[in-house]
Amino acid sequence: MNKEKYRNDPLFSNCISIDYPDAYECFVEEIVTFLRKHNAKNGKSNLIGISQVKMKFDVFTVYVSTEDDNYKIPEMIYEKLATIQRKAFDYCKQCGKKKTQMVIDTQVRKVCLDHFPTRKAVYGK
Ligand SMILES: [Zn+2]
Repeated sequence: MNKEKYRNDPLFSNCISIDYPDAYECFVEEIVTFLRKHNAKNGKSNLIGISQVKMKFDVFTVYVSTEDDNYKIPEMIYEKLATIQRKAFDYCKQCGKKKTQMVIDTQVRKVCLDHFPTRKAVYGK
């Protein structure tokens, strides 16, 4: 995995930090592709840029911003980002496999069977 590849990308020119698990690279790519297309359509390669990629309370989170004071980031951009972030939550951040829905302590949770949260310390996986 290569976060370096984003360093010269205009989308990331104002990015303060990029931190995501390897398994989530496809979701970062999906957001990058989406924003690139949107920016190209609007004639400015960095109209909307990515300002931060991080795991916030274990949830894949991407922040965007614009340097153009006359431009307001449309709601549909945030909706699209939220959709991709929600999708990422369905996949294991360690192996990228789709999580399985299980009931644990009477709560429905999504877990990876290979990286079951309460087991990893014991088996060291
Ligand atoms: Zn896993």
